[in-house]
Amino acid sequence: MIRYRCDSCGVDLERDGSNRYIVKIEAYAAAGKLEFTRGEVERDHEAEIRQLIAALEKKHPDEIEDQVYRSFRYDLCPTCHRRYLASPLVIDNA
Ligand SMILES: [Zn+2]
Repeated sequence: MIRYRCDSCGVDLERDGSNRYIVKIEAYAAAGKLEFTRGEVERDHEAEIRQLIAALEKKHPDEIEDQVYRSFRYDLCPTCHRRYLASPLVIDNA
């Protein structure tokens, strides 16, 4: 049996979804410059790529993923849903 709880306050949520809200959040890096000059395309990038690979090898995979893309999904009760909508950017680690 699937049991749902509010990810914010922990209250039990109805199995039929009648008091459950789902919040999905995506955080990803904005696309950078997508125009290139002929010189940039023709330049030898091998050394630059080797340096990039060496730098990536020293980082934890989660750190790399955090810099590119993360998604989150939360089940919320009606009270926490209202609080979330009122201030979606408030970070509460309490
Ligand atoms: Zn709640």
